[in-house]
Amino acid sequence: MMLTDLFGRVHDYLRISITDKCNLRCSYCMPYDLPHGYYANIKRMTADEIYSIAKTFVGFGIKKIRITGGEPLMRKEFRKIIQLLAQLPVELALSSNGVLIDDFMEDLQQAKIKSVNISLDSLQAETFSSITKRNEQERVLSNIHLLLKNNFEVKINTVVMRGINEQEIVNFVSLTKDLALHIRFIEYMPFLGNGWHKNQVFTYDEILSTIGSVFSYTKLNDPVHSTSKNFKVNGYAGTFGIITTMSRPFCGDCNRLRLTADGKMKNCLFDKEEIDLLSSLRNNDDITELVLKSVRNKKAAMGGQFDNGYQQTEANQVINRSMVGIGG
Ligand code: SAM
Ligand code: SF4
Repeated sequence: MMLTDLFGRVHDYLRISITDKCNLRCSYCMPYDLPHGYYANIKRMTADEIYSIAKTFVGFGIKKIRITGGEPLMRKEFRKIIQLLAQLPVELALSSNGVLIDDFMEDLQQAKIKSVNISLDSLQAETFSSITKRNEQERVLSNIHLLLKNNFEVKINTVVMRGINEQEIVNFVSLTKDLALHIRFIEYMPFLGNGWHKNQVFTYDEILSTIGSVFSYTKLNDPVHSTSKNFKVNGYAGTFGIITTMSRPFCGDCNRLRLTADGKMKNCLFDKEEIDLLSSLRNNDDITELVLKSVRNKKAAMGGQFDNGYQQTEANQVINRSMVGIGG
């Protein structure tokens, strides 16, 4: 049976968060003031439980699993988890902040992970540190080169925030001249505690016109279910894309489901209901009905939380976790 929702969308892509902890503190993702005991009180999926739930999803036709977090490489059982997931007949991918990549190169290769997304919001050391609250830029940059050297497909995720890093868009695109990277500019999204304001969203139109004022580019054909609209500067080795969640949501074509580190299923990044698969699994109950229920509950767009458009939305109206607790 396929995971088809009421709008006819078939879901074959699962993003699993394996931890809600992180070694960086990106302002847009990790709130400054998590409630006291936030980490202590959460029950997290064990490696075997992750495997067991993932297997159920594969039985429903999931073909691709992305491992994310928090920072997945912070999870003590990271090696065990990817070894287990590598046994499933799925394409495995990873999202990471890049800091610890050099410790895990062989493990990634053994698990046949070919595609890695790395977060990088600034090419300037000071801005990087001010966004992430840590001085890890050098290691992240060197790990991006290491991944390329080892023939991984590397996508760089850059959250564009007005007044913070929009002046770096051109420099990011320049990186694609010689490096076969795919840079994805992400419109800034609201999550619990991140202080989002609609005026800080640097939109698709603005990003593209910034790039167009310097480079001549060509539109590429977007793969099915692509979250980004993709382009290439003529003659450059790499490509760039824009993830337009706020200004032009791409929900009509969505094939994605999510599992949080504490075993809650989210049918959308902005799903406010969440279904607790882990508790049922621990009670030895069959979770298949719950998975189907979550898919049936999926709203047409953006968890039903932005029906009037992002410009009519205040951050405190959005019911959700912080991004670090969802899994990007
Ligand atoms: N730690 C890993 C990383 O940084 O890539 C994986 C988890 S992180 C939550 C996944 C992605 O979500 C990152 O690319 C990050 O930039 C993006 N993200 C987090 N908060 C966001 C926000 N408020 N708006 C847009 N993208 C966000
Ligand atoms: Fe950590 Fe990634 Fe969130 Fe940054 S975006 S705080 S690296 S989980």
